[in-house]
Amino acid sequence: MRCRVNRDPDKLWGGPPGPRGSPWTRSALSIRKVVSFSLKWPTRASAADQGVRPTCGIVFAMRRIGFLFFMAILCLAQSHPVTDAEVQRIHKSALLIDTHNDITSRTVDGYDIGKAKNDGHTNVTALREGNVGAQFFAVYVSGTYTNGNHSARRTLEMIDTVRHDILARYSQDFEFASTADDIERIHKTGKIAALMGIEGGHAIEDSLRLLRDYYALGIRYMTLTHSNTNNWADSSGDMDKAGVQHHNGLTDFGKQVVREMNRLGMLVDISHVADKTFWDALEVSAAPPFASHSSCRALSNVPRNMTDEMIVALAKKGGVVQVNFACEFLSQKTADASKELLPRMSAARAESDRALMEQYRKQVPPATLGDVVAHIDHIVKIAGINAVGIGSDFDGIFCAPKDLEDVSKFPNLTRALLEKGYSADDIRKIYGGNFLRVMRAAEARAAR
Ligand SMILES: [Zn+2]
Repeated sequence: MRCRVNRDPDKLWGGPPGPRGSPWTRSALSIRKVVSFSLKWPTRASAADQGVRPTCGIVFAMRRIGFLFFMAILCLAQSHPVTDAEVQRIHKSALLIDTHNDITSRTVDGYDIGKAKNDGHTNVTALREGNVGAQFFAVYVSGTYTNGNHSARRTLEMIDTVRHDILARYSQDFEFASTADDIERIHKTGKIAALMGIEGGHAIEDSLRLLRDYYALGIRYMTLTHSNTNNWADSSGDMDKAGVQHHNGLTDFGKQVVREMNRLGMLVDISHVADKTFWDALEVSAAPPFASHSSCRALSNVPRNMTDEMIVALAKKGGVVQVNFACEFLSQKTADASKELLPRMSAARAESDRALMEQYRKQVPPATLGDVVAHIDHIVKIAGINAVGIGSDFDGIFCAPKDLEDVSKFPNLTRALLEKGYSADDIRKIYGGNFLRVMRAAEARAAR
């Protein structure tokens, strides 16, 4: 026996029992009955008050023993040992689609993704070990490129690093994908499907023509902003920053960008945006938006994460939250401990400032694999099993969770999810099924 997860927010433990409750709901309710029955162990006084004979003490004692026995069985069931073979079998059965990886910010400077045991989170061997089936490579354009209008040039260079330094150089391992069908077809051949998403809406330099060019070059999602508010969308990264001209969400042109993305079949990515931008995008978008790499604000209260209200609303529209592995987004402890250091590290680009990185390692407790599971679990509880996926942000984060330190460690997540009670079907949805649904919805919308 293994505990199963709540799939439906209306059917949570303690929720109103409905005639059509799931087996788990029914068993949860019966567990509650057993617990409350077993704990009704009256004192002598109360027993007398209630007219219970003292000999009934034996019955009560037996109830207590029965209860303890029941709890022990429950604990055993919850810590159900999962065998290595089971982990491998289920992990391999899933098409794992990670919707955000920033190794491209290094390959563009000559870093070799083919070099095993490199110092990053990502390389070809590790992607194979982690059984990654499809990888979205981030075409990340820093807000600094808006100075002097170099964003488009940088975007083209980043697209080139995916095509030239990853796809062409390692064509035995990667194949370019631009549709959900491509992902599934390539996965069957044993190669890794490689896709591209733009990070930072300023990349289009306020031009729908550039947006269309990027789509033609293979871009399949775009975050409406990065950490910087651009000319048409507010970012979560600078809402408190003095001197930034905000728009109260999306401008009219921003709404046009969303509609054009819908028309093209490019996914509207709400990671990084300000809350009001999220609500505007949700309202305007004709296809389900998604978060390529975001986590839950209820568990780590940072503006980059999503509130429960946002997660539920996104799920209602058919979207998906791809959980981000950055320690700060996963753990409040990490977020609090790194509050002062992180902005300095981002400004310095930590890899080039070893002293700062060393200080970070000493000072900041990392998040754990358990935190990743907690975020997945939270989304499942409030929005259902169809609302969650994986957007690791590997090689774009200063700290990866313990036991999930790089792309080769994904089987650890499978083990943890199985131990938590998730079924193989649940895991396949989380790893890729949910995202494929969202991608197909965007494609269907564009085909109209
Ligand atoms: Zn990001």
